Amino acid sequence: MIDYDFSHSWQVESSSTPEQLWPILSDTNRLFRDLGELPVEQTNLTQNSRKGYRELTYEPLHRTDMWEEEPYQWEKPYHLSVKRNYKSGYLKDLLISVDISPIESGSVVTFRFRGETRRLTGYMYIKWRFNSRFKFRIRQLVHSYDQSISEQRIPRNKKHRFSLSNPRRWDHFTDRLSDISREREISTLLIKTIQKGNESDLKQLNPQKLALLWNKPLSSVLRVMLFASKLDILNFSWNILCPHCRTNVKNIKKLKEITDPVYCSQCEEDFNVDFHQGLELTFQPHPLIRKIPKKTYCFGNPAEQYHLDLNITLNPGQKRFVKINLSEGVYRIYSDKSNEVIQAEVDEDGLSNATIHFRKGRSLTDKVYLSTTPNLIIHNQTDEVMMIRCENVSKEKFTVSAAEISSWQLFRNLFPEELIRDKKKLNAENLTILFTDLYNSSDLYRKDGDESAIGIVMDHFDVLEQAIIEERGSVVKTIGDSVMAIFPKPANAVRAFYKADQIFKENTDHDPPIELKGGIHKGDCMAVTLNNRIDYFGNTVNVASRLVGFAGGSEVVISSEAYSCPELKDYVRTREHSLKKHFREVTFKGFENESFEILQMSHKESPLRLVV
Ligand SMILES: [Zn+2]
Repeated sequence: MIDYDFSHSWQVESSSTPEQLWPILSDTNRLFRDLGELPVEQTNLTQNSRKGYRELTYEPLHRTDMWEEEPYQWEKPYHLSVKRNYKSGYLKDLLISVDISPIESGSVVTFRFRGETRRLTGYMYIKWRFNSRFKFRIRQLVHSYDQSISEQRIPRNKKHRFSLSNPRRWDHFTDRLSDISREREISTLLIKTIQKGNESDLKQLNPQKLALLWNKPLSSVLRVMLFASKLDILNFSWNILCPHCRTNVKNIKKLKEITDPVYCSQCEEDFNVDFHQGLELTFQPHPLIRKIPKKTYCFGNPAEQYHLDLNITLNPGQKRFVKINLSEGVYRIYSDKSNEVIQAEVDEDGLSNATIHFRKGRSLTDKVYLSTTPNLIIHNQTDEVMMIRCENVSKEKFTVSAAEISSWQLFRNLFPEELIRDKKKLNAENLTILFTDLYNSSDLYRKDGDESAIGIVMDHFDVLEQAIIEERGSVVKTIGDSVMAIFPKPANAVRAFYKADQIFKENTDHDPPIELKGGIHKGDCMAVTLNNRIDYFGNTVNVASRLVGFAGGSEVVISSEAYSCPELKDYVRTREHSLKKHFREVTFKGFENESFEILQMSHKESPLRLVV
């Protein structure tokens, strides 16, 4: 039998930059659907797929082709490709690649389909199929993506199907949602998205992505989406993410459905669900409003692994030049075959040329200092095939975690049944805990009397909660005059603390003004349901609660673990002139054998402080 090579490619100019196009084009689930590809399914007919590889076929009606799919390769935001090795059908193999090159007016996008067919008839068929299907569609597609980018919305379906017979009901939904959420603009944007958005985007509506797209605060977008769920316009559910590859392994409707351990077929490993880093909130239209077909057009979608800027396979001895575009921050470069992790610090002054070697049996952690647009050479010096990844660790995750949202007062009011199953303990890794207290509360009670002081304390909770929510935190509980809150990162906790403190300082109703004190620590906790709410326990919580004791008025005490957060260091660096800092070592009750390095931080008194 003779094999026939084929290669088809199409180039389209786009008015968007590679950075703007990347989030859309790297979502291959949408891309393949929009290109008119058929939905796919995973099969397990031959159970010898290599790690990271998948065996796929089209859905039953079209099941003539079956292939092994190699892991997606990408260099963000310039290149992505996937190779299929066929076991049946016309094709022998197929390499699909998308290259995005910057030009003055935007980019040039090149779609390439290359491979071999088994017979001449196959060759003719493929030629006809690709030419008829892709030639015109690709141009239209890039144009429609450009339009959605310029209009700050998610791409639309060419033909969107209504499941509502009366289109005026969309206005009715907008009105109801605006009334209840008091956010008309976001309500309108959301209903329009549900009405016209592309099916593959609506399958997983991510509140943070929408907030970025619409340029609105995340807390307001979340508020509208939660009310929309209460009104049965949306449904929400939870994605369980694998801690190693961050793939969405399972989707559950209720937190009570969590059972450990969960198996990741990509990593071939069991894992325990992490309440903070491994459970993300996602929304989808209620089926009565708009039915979204449960079809999948690809597995291992690069957009799902947005934290990876580079994902490539290198053969033994292979050297490869890669071009990626990084943002300032901290990255990890690692391979799936060794424990070696290379830390990369990225900023504008970093190295623009660097070679990174992966050797056998060396587990040294190296550091590199890279520019934001580095020319990298990656060299696999081992005799094994390696997957090399570059992961952004300082970037804010594009997700709202179960820990973040489950303590929100609004969420608890609307969905009080969303709790962890009784007696179930879940890990919550890398959580930031803030404890606050009132510095001068005894003065307050003495001067103003109990009743008035309690009123002041309650008001202060409202101000504090608002500041906490605006910084992506949530109040776990209040204990006397003090608040326990959780945050994704220490920088958020510090910002929330000073935001609230500033409001108290500016409020002239109280003399002396309310003064906050705070303690911040970061680490692993246990999440459980206690007294009908989700609470956190463990050493991290205990340490954070002790730290408040070392703080003076308007002062926050930060543990060295929390201070290691790069974003917090940046925050401090940019306010060097106005912050008073004092590092010291302390010991405290319950931890007699340990000493803790802490940072006491407060704002310097402004020399121009007005005395009224
Ligand atoms: Zn995994």
